[in-house]
Amino acid sequence: MEKNIRIAIIGGGPAGLSAGMYLEQKGYENYVIFEKTDHVGGKCHSPTWNGKRYEMGAIMGVPSYYAVHDVELFAGVDHNGPRLHRTYRLPNGQPDHRFDKKLFNIPHLLKLKKQIKKFGEILETKYKGYDICGHRGVSEGRYEGFAVTPGREPVSGVNENLKDLAMPFKKFCELNKCPLVTEIWVQPFTSFGYGYFDEIPAAYVLKYLDFQTMMNFVNVNLWTWKDGTQSIYEALNAKLKHPALLNSNITKIVRGEKVTITVNGKEEVFDKLIITAPLQVGTINNPVAQGLDSYLDVTEKERELFSKIDYERYDTMAYITAKENYPEASFYVVDNMTPETLGHGMVFYMRWGNEPDQPLVSYVLRKHKDPSESLKQYKARPELEYEATKKTVLEDIAKLGIPPIKEEGKDKIIYEFQAYYFPHVFSEDYAAGWYEKVEAMQGQNNTYYAGEIMSFGDMDETVEYSRDLVERFFR
Ligand SMILES: Cc1cc2nc3c(=O)[nH]c(=O)nc-3n(C[C@H](O)[C@H](O)[C@H](O)COP(=O)(O)OP(=O)(O)OC[C@H]3O[C@@H](n4cnc5c(N)ncnc54)[C@H](O)[C@@H]3O)c2cc1C
Repeated sequence: MEKNIRIAIIGGGPAGLSAGMYLEQKGYENYVIFEKTDHVGGKCHSPTWNGKRYEMGAIMGVPSYYAVHDVELFAGVDHNGPRLHRTYRLPNGQPDHRFDKKLFNIPHLLKLKKQIKKFGEILETKYKGYDICGHRGVSEGRYEGFAVTPGREPVSGVNENLKDLAMPFKKFCELNKCPLVTEIWVQPFTSFGYGYFDEIPAAYVLKYLDFQTMMNFVNVNLWTWKDGTQSIYEALNAKLKHPALLNSNITKIVRGEKVTITVNGKEEVFDKLIITAPLQVGTINNPVAQGLDSYLDVTEKERELFSKIDYERYDTMAYITAKENYPEASFYVVDNMTPETLGHGMVFYMRWGNEPDQPLVSYVLRKHKDPSESLKQYKARPELEYEATKKTVLEDIAKLGIPPIKEEGKDKIIYEFQAYYFPHVFSEDYAAGWYEKVEAMQGQNNTYYAGEIMSFGDMDETVEYSRDLVERFFR
């Protein structure tokens, strides 16, 4: 491709900014990143309290975040944040000893350990190729992409077993006779807002929580950033030849020979378009997301495919508790990580150990697709209402003994964030080749698709997918 082509990138989150970085590294320097808000980072969102940044979006990474590491090197950032500490609680506030070897059921723990080991072996052998970034070929029993190694060599192959990845993770574990592993995988999955194992295809669970990543979580071998995850992308943006154009209000994109974008009332013409903003079409019940068809001339094919996308209703709320209530570590409430306890707080995160007067952040999910209902029934059913769920979470917080202090009679809540979170498709559409169809459209109409839906909704998979896209199409 001609290196001087003009490329528009929609979205200044990890996917969009890293697309700019990788393009630049390949010699494509004529790009513009349009960001609709007044800041970069997207769901890596780290506001400030008492001179320190806390996290309303992404918090952590693991040493196998190779793509995030590319960004760190480019931007001159290091993962120098506080160590994460967690403790388990029952919903009534009592300590939860389920992982405590001395107090808990040792035969069960031994069984669990055996299944984890077996699961790791099965993934490496029967499901060879399962962990590659993106979903190209999976529903057809193939893998194609870059290895999850520091060198990220191109790899491809045929493996019919990969078709199993379309089924919900719970079923996948049962099929492979390792049902107990869900007890471990659930924590960095459901509590991090990615939904429940009876609904979410195994492919998503395992692209993110591949075996090495999962073991890093188990061993608390994690990365955080002192100035928050947003600071990674602010530093990246500052190093780009063309930092993102903030407050870009895109009202129209028309594609033909060229791509014409109406932004802040002015038309700009480009050769290529990379979309990292939500691809979902139609009305989205979220304060920050808008349907792609509200500004793009979507084709029939795009409309058909992108109408299948769903997302998670995942809310975070930061509040201040009384000095004497600060816990010794973040609380994980595993009993609230089930579909039956939808709408209850799952994690209460404390970022800086032993420091009073810092925000505590609660995490809750508000929608679940029951395996017995059709997509149509699910979409027609109302989700848990935001305010009612917030009330439930405040009650949960009170039971845990870490309630907000009152200021002028009101709870001291300092920030609420409702993310358009983890866009994905369900098993039926995954198995029917949703990804193969979308990947086949890459480049048509001068358009490329990146961002969370194309791989998975975490920092590394989104950045890695941008790398993948640039490697494939912008040589
Ligand atoms: C509560 C929470 C916890 C998380 N924890 C972790 C974690 O610990 N580790 C981890 O790796 N990941 C975590 N994540 C996920 C991670 O933040 C996302 O996967 C990642 O930010 C996705 O990057 P993205 O660029 O694809 O999308 P986003 O981050 O959503 O960025 C998209 C950008 O596009 C902009 N945009 C949207 N529409 C338009 C438009 N029409 N025009 C212009 N701009 C537009 C948005 O404003 C936004 O800036 C978490 C997220 C949340 C919300």
